[in-house]
Amino acid sequence: MKITAVETRVVRTGGGGPWLFCIIRTDAGITGYSQFGSGSYPKGQVGLVEDLGKTLIGKDPDPVERHYLEMYRATAQVSGGATSMAIAGIELALWDIKGKAAGMPVYRLLGGPFRERQQVYWSHLASYRAQGRADEMGVAPLRTWDDVADCVREATDAGFSAFKSNIIFPGDPPRRMRDVFAGDFDQNANPDLIEHAVKQISVMREAAGPNIGIALDIHYEFKTEGAIRLAQALEPYNLMWLEFDKFEPEPLAQIKSSTRTPITTGEQLLGVREYKRFFELRAMDTVKIDVPWQGFSQAKKVADLAELYEMNVAPHNYTSHLATFQSLQFTAMIPNVRIMETDIDSSPWRDELTTTLPELKDGYMAIPTAPGWGCDLDEVAAEKYAYEG
Ligand SMILES: [Mg+2]
Repeated sequence: MKITAVETRVVRTGGGGPWLFCIIRTDAGITGYSQFGSGSYPKGQVGLVEDLGKTLIGKDPDPVERHYLEMYRATAQVSGGATSMAIAGIELALWDIKGKAAGMPVYRLLGGPFRERQQVYWSHLASYRAQGRADEMGVAPLRTWDDVADCVREATDAGFSAFKSNIIFPGDPPRRMRDVFAGDFDQNANPDLIEHAVKQISVMREAAGPNIGIALDIHYEFKTEGAIRLAQALEPYNLMWLEFDKFEPEPLAQIKSSTRTPITTGEQLLGVREYKRFFELRAMDTVKIDVPWQGFSQAKKVADLAELYEMNVAPHNYTSHLATFQSLQFTAMIPNVRIMETDIDSSPWRDELTTTLPELKDGYMAIPTAPGWGCDLDEVAAEKYAYEG
């Protein structure tokens, strides 16, 4: 089998950033699909896939790890970031081809499955609706704390046992933390802001009851001291985790050792080399890993190293169903999963974009059993929703 084409598709999603897909075609009629990278600044990532893809034309797609290492070494002068994501796009599509050629899901090529289903949490609960996207999603606008409590009940009524939100400000219009901090480079966690976050989580805990997992993601907001005060103020609400991203492990280790609120981080890291420093400093309780950003083999290596450090991982997964299938295949292949993300409000036409939908029941998703990822990009729908920039 030989690779005949490496293509990309950029698809608009509504109010959020576009989604990036890689398609690898072969002379055997097998086509590999992947979702990769971030919706931020798509052109660079797509260009890198196209440049790297040219080096693969005419080659056998089968030795995936060898192709990965060749691309990794060839891009040493532009390593990391968008380059890592572009390599991931190709590597993931190659795994899909390998699975389809073997007639088995990707995890079976690597010794899985460890599980038949995977617990998931509803991510960005109320957050997109605070972004002025309630109309787009066809849901009630977020005006009051009661509306926020209704969002929580929507998730628990749907069978979810856990959810994640961001700091939001219901109102008319509702706002997000990003709107509040716009133009404010200091990112201070002033007392009124801490009080607001505590109010939000108290409303959510009241609506959810004591046994539902609640996570709060504050991204890169706040300096270390602000994050520590927030984590301490939220201790009475027994969070599943506080999620906070920094590019250095020391501040995270400082936060983690300063509070009994569990700390999750890692989505900002690409590849096992970057994670290693964070593990050595015990900088998190749970490890976030984004499969479409770093690829399947690296995600597996990170999870294996996390296992040595007695930590479970939580796949970062907030985009299309194809990314969800890639992430489910990842959880099927490793023994140390905390819980997996899924994003109910990500795009109004998400179900149109793939050939298969995940099976979601009682807050768990079934591990796919079809060859490859078990889910293809619908190329007709990708054309219909093509991103124009
Ligand atoms: Mg996050």
